[in-house]
Amino acid sequence: MADPAIALEDVHLTLGSGAGRVHILKGITLDIEPGASVGIVGPSGSGKSTLLMVLGGLERADRGSVQVAGQELTGLNEDALARFRGRSVGIVFQSFHLIPTMTALENVAVPLELAGQADAFARAKRELDAVGLADRAGHYPSELSGGEQQRVAIARALAPEPALLLADEPTGNLDADTGTPIVDLMFEASRARGMTLVIVTHDPELARRCGRTIRMRAGEIDDGGLRVATAEAL
Ligand code: ADP
Ligand code: MG
Repeated sequence: MADPAIALEDVHLTLGSGAGRVHILKGITLDIEPGASVGIVGPSGSGKSTLLMVLGGLERADRGSVQVAGQELTGLNEDALARFRGRSVGIVFQSFHLIPTMTALENVAVPLELAGQADAFARAKRELDAVGLADRAGHYPSELSGGEQQRVAIARALAPEPALLLADEPTGNLDADTGTPIVDLMFEASRARGMTLVIVTHDPELARRCGRTIRMRAGEIDDGGLRVATAEAL
């Protein structure tokens, strides 16, 4: 088998300060192969979003090893982490996170420009075309529907050709008719580009479309008692 796109070993993370400190991730060990599609499910508050942030280099593990796209993230400083994010990871959020004062085209192009891409606007235009928004390039987010805004966010995430696309409840703010074609776009991009796809979702239908499902419970991977059963068998 190819090296895993993602390899986590005993990852712990505590966030907050003082009395508000919460031990969120409690020993996550996980391998994901390149090009795989993985759904992360589990109750609200179980640590799904936090795990995604660790995978995307937006939160740093307190303990354990985090390898993503061939990089060990735990020792990287802020600059190196930012470079890793810009090069290797695309992220799509439930609430789109577009910049309201920029057009659709600018929203997609600006991260490419910041990364020093010479043909940023041409590339952004191609990505907008690919998500079916060729005729909306000059529109501001407030002039677009929720589904259209999420298409822009997907184009922006895909434009740097990341090895890994992370999506946190990408259809959470969309109705089913709008959400399904949005999800189709992500799976198509994963197949066409050999890109690894990790989606946090409450939607059982979406989870079923993933090659594999990981269930979180209270900061741990819920293996249905497998670990205990294995320990007893040894
Ligand atoms: P999920 O996405 O599964 O709903 P989260 O990863 O968002 O769960 O959160 C897991 C737990 O960590 C929750 O109890 C949440 O309140 C807590 N939490 C998340 N972020 C922070 C933070 N920055 N500071 C303190 N607690 C946090
Ligand atoms: Mg969440």
